[in-house]
Amino acid sequence: METYKRLLLNNKAWVQDKMELREDFFTRTSGVQKPEFLWIGCSDSRVPAEEVTGVVPGELFVHRNIANLVVHTDFNMLSVVQYAVEVLEVKHVIVCGHYGCGGVRAAMSRQHLGLINKWLRHIKDIYRLHSSELDTMPDENARYARLIELNVVEQVNHLAELSFVQLAWKRSKRPTLHGWIYDMNTGYLKQIAKIDPDNVPHDIFMYEFPKELMGDG
Ligand SMILES: [Zn+2]
Repeated sequence: METYKRLLLNNKAWVQDKMELREDFFTRTSGVQKPEFLWIGCSDSRVPAEEVTGVVPGELFVHRNIANLVVHTDFNMLSVVQYAVEVLEVKHVIVCGHYGCGGVRAAMSRQHLGLINKWLRHIKDIYRLHSSELDTMPDENARYARLIELNVVEQVNHLAELSFVQLAWKRSKRPTLHGWIYDMNTGYLKQIAKIDPDNVPHDIFMYEFPKELMGDG
């Protein structure tokens, strides 16, 4: 059997399982979605967002890219975040990185990888931003793990710097921004950053909005 056919067979079995659980498993969420969480994770196949958080379809709005980056010129990611914040009105946005991230590993090297150099240079910028800490770490694996953590912290900061996140904070005191790390060796998630609507980013990133954009809240 060709390997991809296994996926289609799995799907049939999965539908049966869910229908046995409850008959309206699919129909109850097929009309509308109202997820409370936006997940921005790595594309890595070993970090399945729904599985590690134990949620069911309808609970998690998901965006994934290499090394879970929030890049201010990435219209794909920005559109996902804006839709999640303004239309779905999510309460929490989670950036989840993971130890052993190949994207971060590649960014730490000087290897030429073609187009992907452009993507990974955003991580190199984070290395440069934190080089005073990272360069004092003689152990390469410790430095690698720390850059994975710092990358998540900085991506959460990037979210806080978005005008539509700040506008949602002013209008409705949400979303809370979270930075988590998934440990592939243990399966556990670890919280490493949290930004509430009251903890604003550096002044230079804080937008002043005209009154008509502020709404009632
Ligand atoms: Zn990764």
